[in-house]
Amino acid sequence: MSSAVSLENVTRRFNGVPAVDGLTLDIPDGEFFSLLGPSGSGKSTCLRLIAGFEQPDSGVIRLHGTDTASLPPYQRDVNTVFQDYALFPHMSLLDNVAYGLMVKGVGRAERMVRARAALARVELRDVLNRKPAHLSGGQRQRVALARALVNEPRILLLDEPLGALDLKLREQMQGELKTLQRELGITFIFVTHDQGEALSMSDRVAVFDQGRIEQVDTPRRLYFQPRSRFVANFVGSAN
Ligand code: ADP
Ligand code: MG
Repeated sequence: MSSAVSLENVTRRFNGVPAVDGLTLDIPDGEFFSLLGPSGSGKSTCLRLIAGFEQPDSGVIRLHGTDTASLPPYQRDVNTVFQDYALFPHMSLLDNVAYGLMVKGVGRAERMVRARAALARVELRDVLNRKPAHLSGGQRQRVALARALVNEPRILLLDEPLGALDLKLREQMQGELKTLQRELGITFIFVTHDQGEALSMSDRVAVFDQGRIEQVDTPRRLYFQPRSRFVANFVGSAN
């Protein structure tokens, strides 16, 4: 069985300095996988490489067994949720979510059916016709999720999606994301610099330091059997 995502010795440099440095990683289908590490450790670059927004300088990235070297982002079975999601302010939620399908040439009737279904998935079926300005922070984040899900990707990439939310809402959304991932059964790759968040949500976690992976393991093993001082300090068992 092939992995959802596999990276083989992948390096990406900016101005000669590696942001991602010889990464090798396998993520099985249907896993909730987190990339955890301090700011600047290469997590976002890794996601952007998987999404196809960046090209590796060397190494191979496969999605469900297919080499992505000449695969543009829109042909990858992947969608991304960013923290700074931009919604179109003049459009209703329904149109915001349906927009990605229009770009792909899906007809209007089907766009509406699929956008409604995606909004229902994230518990927004009652506010379809609102404009983004009239939403709470949590609702806006849910719209961003619906927009990424409307294309029915097999892999969802989430780059610190909860970073802008206050603690209470954050904890609520963590639970919702986890439930959503289980229901959909697709692969989630979740980026965070928050140890607690990564440990509580993930099947497995990769701990990043300076473009390299220090350890890939279950939350439990990372906590109780950290392989280095860095992991122990960062994950918290040494505190
Ligand atoms: P993280 O998401 O873990 O905070 P990033 O992947 O954003 O880390 O960045 C890793 C390193 O690569 C940082 O040193 C950052 O400054 C650098 N970097 C990322 N993107 C670019 C870019 N487009 N141009 C130049 N340097 C970049
Ligand atoms: Mg980042």
